Amino acid sequence: MMFNSKGKEERTYDAIVIGSGISGGYAAMELCTKGYKTLILERGRDIKHGDYPTANMDPWDFENQGKLKQEELDKHYFKQNRLSWWVGEGHKHLINKDDEYPYDEVKRYDWIRGHHVGGRSLMWGRQCYRWSDIDFEANLKEGIAIDWPIRYKDIEPWYDYVETFVGVSGRKEGLPQIPDGKFLKPHDLNCVEQHMRESVMKKYPHRIITPGRCANLTEYDPKIHLGKRGQCQNRNRCVRGCPYGAYFSSQAATLPVAEDTGNLSLRADSIVTEIVYDKKLGKASGVRIKDAISGKEYEYFARIIFCNASTVGSTALLLNSRSESFPDGLGNTSGELGHNMMDHHYGMGASATMDGFEDKYYKGRRPNGFYIPRFRNISKETKRDDYVRGFGYQGGASRVANVPEGLVGAELKEQIFAPGQYHIWMTCFGEILPYHENKMFLNFDKKDKHGMPIITFDAELKENEMTLRKDGVICAEEILEAAGAKNINSWNEATAPGACIHEMGTARMGHSNKTSVLNKWNQIHDVPNVFVTDGSCMTSSGTQNPSITYIALTARAVDHADREVKAGRL
Ligand SMILES: Cc1cc2nc3c(=O)[nH]c(=O)nc-3n(C[C@H](O)[C@H](O)[C@H](O)COP(=O)(O)OP(=O)(O)OC[C@H]3O[C@@H](n4cnc5c(N)ncnc54)[C@H](O)[C@@H]3O)c2cc1C
Repeated sequence: MMFNSKGKEERTYDAIVIGSGISGGYAAMELCTKGYKTLILERGRDIKHGDYPTANMDPWDFENQGKLKQEELDKHYFKQNRLSWWVGEGHKHLINKDDEYPYDEVKRYDWIRGHHVGGRSLMWGRQCYRWSDIDFEANLKEGIAIDWPIRYKDIEPWYDYVETFVGVSGRKEGLPQIPDGKFLKPHDLNCVEQHMRESVMKKYPHRIITPGRCANLTEYDPKIHLGKRGQCQNRNRCVRGCPYGAYFSSQAATLPVAEDTGNLSLRADSIVTEIVYDKKLGKASGVRIKDAISGKEYEYFARIIFCNASTVGSTALLLNSRSESFPDGLGNTSGELGHNMMDHHYGMGASATMDGFEDKYYKGRRPNGFYIPRFRNISKETKRDDYVRGFGYQGGASRVANVPEGLVGAELKEQIFAPGQYHIWMTCFGEILPYHENKMFLNFDKKDKHGMPIITFDAELKENEMTLRKDGVICAEEILEAAGAKNINSWNEATAPGACIHEMGTARMGHSNKTSVLNKWNQIHDVPNVFVTDGSCMTSSGTQNPSITYIALTARAVDHADREVKAGRL
């Protein structure tokens, strides 16, 4: 082992950020702009903005029009292919292969991640919804798990702050369950979606169909949308990386701004294996890394450490950071580290066709759809006796591609221009409760190729989830019926946790180190110079896509860290 071969000083920074994805990129930008010499350590390869090899490819440029061959799926994506829609030729280079990045499952867990600079900011779906006190107060009111140590008023100004920079489009609706934000102009609903909105609201006044709130720049202001951003071209190829920088990613937004300060250093291919705790100082002194290419080990030092390796990555790192003071993982005084694993429901929804709009067209594509916010258990009127919490839907209506078979030449051309029918689909995203027994842990007897203990998942849906799922499907059918749709099909395939790619909760925030890992500022209760601001911090899961909340908590935590440093407490 070789530590500090070039001297400790050269490896000492004001701050270290572990992971360069959605939350890590934001942490680094905030630290750098406040003047902190910041080192990002990212376990995956470097990807520069614009280095998106498939971004300009058309379906005919891919073998099999972008579908992967069965041999490749079987060899490299045998777990992820359980979600048959997921891996494709256009973005497979951004997804970890199951054979290269093994994990174990006591119960099935679908883990989707990408180890490279930018993390999942490059291929996320960009949907952004605020949480409200309906979410922050739910655990306390219902006596479930533990109380959140914050309320909406604590995070509201930070939503304002980050939404402005990120650039979130949306329509103000004045709904308490998803508070309005600082929105750019929305992607309009198309004629069928607008019809759905009007007809469904007449029958079900709480079921609101609104344009998705989305981190694609529908309006671009170079003074606000700093970095390498640009106007959205509605190409709908976001999952491959956007050469226009039109959606929020680390590459297009946070990393270039951080770089421009002159305070950023980024080391790719650097697997952080441990956060080092200094018993005498009562805080972390730095981190150990393993170079993913050379296999050499190094140590880096900093006054503040931001842990943003994603929910599972950060929790694994903390569990692996064992010392005399923390034999069960850094900051794990409560024994809750790794527990309370949550995600959102997946694999349920409905589809249909809609007649009567054959003469209506729309132009171009749209990297977005509609959203139906939660309408169950948000008031006395909407209270259910059979389950707690709720669900929302994401969906869209579009023309079905009209591809007549067996024709050539003029006849084909004529037929192909005839518009297809309108098709509607909607997927339900529901809340999963924080159960102590739903967990991840490390198997120290089994190691990956880098010598890291294998991550093992043991989580499942329970009774509340199963009851909620049934209602989620019934309501989807009701919505389509109320809209006058035809050929309604619904599905409820109970996928495993992880499938919704919103993993959360394994190092939760709380009031005390007896029941939680982090305090209300995302600091480890017992190691105050380590901040964890990715999804592992979440105390419950809500129904909303969570990343904008991680971003807001990150900006808030950096602000707090800065104040603590200036006050001499960190
Ligand atoms: C297809 C898809 C669609 C999605 N849609 C949405 C959506 O619409 N809305 C939404 O809110 N969310 C969505 N998500 C989820 C969203 O991507 C994640 O919530 C978000 O990226 C989490 O941010 P993060 O910073 O915690 O982790 P990530 O963005 O995953 O970044 C973590 C980074 O840490 C690095 N890392 C891990 N371990 C280590 C280590 N030991 N040392 C160094 N580096 C490490 C990883 O390589 C990675 O780069 C989607 C995800 C996917 C894949």
